Amino acid sequence: MAGIWPGGIKTVVLLSFDFDGTSIMRYRDPDAENRPTALSIGEFGPRVGVHRILDLLERYEIPASFFVPGWIAERNEDTVRRMVSDGHEIGHHGYMHEPPATLDPDQEQAVLDKGIDILEGITGQRPLGYRSPSWDLTEHSLGFLAQRGFVYDSSLMGHDAPYFVDSPNGRLVELPVSWALDDYPYYVFNRGMGSMNTPADVFEGWRLEFDGAYQYGSAFILTMHPQVTGRLAKLMVLERLIQYIRSHSNVEFMRHIDVAQRWTETGMA
Ligand SMILES: [Zn+2]
Repeated sequence: MAGIWPGGIKTVVLLSFDFDGTSIMRYRDPDAENRPTALSIGEFGPRVGVHRILDLLERYEIPASFFVPGWIAERNEDTVRRMVSDGHEIGHHGYMHEPPATLDPDQEQAVLDKGIDILEGITGQRPLGYRSPSWDLTEHSLGFLAQRGFVYDSSLMGHDAPYFVDSPNGRLVELPVSWALDDYPYYVFNRGMGSMNTPADVFEGWRLEFDGAYQYGSAFILTMHPQVTGRLAKLMVLERLIQYIRSHSNVEFMRHIDVAQRWTETGMA
């Protein structure tokens, strides 16, 4: 099958990491500070997981995209700077991991502007990509993003390859996500809540997802979290997956922003 990419590229692989830390817990539970065990699940990301992931990406020379809530960026400036100096992209992911669907339009815009200011202040670059916390946009979100010069969103599930989405303020590229291509629903478990798949099962599922993307010449867009995939056996799933993908010809690892800009320039539909 011909596929969707120009030139000799058969499949594009986009690795992304949502650097949530404890923000997701703090937003959902104002009393989170009084539950140190639950909070420590998130603390693992900035303390341990993210560094292991950055080392792994460095070893394999793979550029990736990190979506960082402003509150987390403020508390992990050195880590964010390392992401940039290693060649990774920093995308917007709210301030305290607020799903837009929980905000009114004024609050949603205030969170967008606050996150932009914080990320730009640390990296020197305005974020051009956005991933909604909890993948839950409002009817206004795409318009707010286009108004602020974002090039792409990565929160919708309407395709398994990049596609265009229109808003009253202009067109964006959508880099679609999928629950099947997210580490969170497979692994996250806390006191009877959630599920706990074996890393081997997750590897097998993602391997098949890649096989499909490769056979159809599409895109493989994977969402991970440092506090989840930074755990050792799960990190090995990612490393084995990288090795498996690398055993195929004409595959390119790209950052979200690079795919979105190429999509815009070539006007691919
Ligand atoms: Zn998140």
